[in-house]
Amino acid sequence: MLNKDLEFLVALQDLDIMIRDIEDVKEIGFAVAGKEKLEEARAELTQKIGKSLLFNYEKLKKRYKRAIVPVKGDVCLGCFMRVPTQLITRGRSDQQVINCEGCGRVLYWYE
Ligand SMILES: [Zn+2]
Repeated sequence: MLNKDLEFLVALQDLDIMIRDIEDVKEIGFAVAGKEKLEEARAELTQKIGKSLLFNYEKLKKRYKRAIVPVKGDVCLGCFMRVPTQLITRGRSDQQVINCEGCGRVLYWYE
């Protein structure tokens, strides 16, 4: 299970990708209306996320297309480096937001 912060961050990342996609849409009218809606949702969402997490995410977003990536087994699917067991335990049990030691991306687990 994702903790709330992570859930919001994953949703935020989705919105950012959708906003980026809609910028490529050729039908201008549709794109403008859609983008407005998406940005409205984004603004709402950012208010639910802690300041330091949001700052961390915005910084990562400048470097990576996806700032939040899943972990498979014990491997970060962003950079394919092994995530230390200790971090995995913390990320899973305490439901803390964990950053990959290799690439810095925010990690999440799924079962
Ligand atoms: Zn990584």
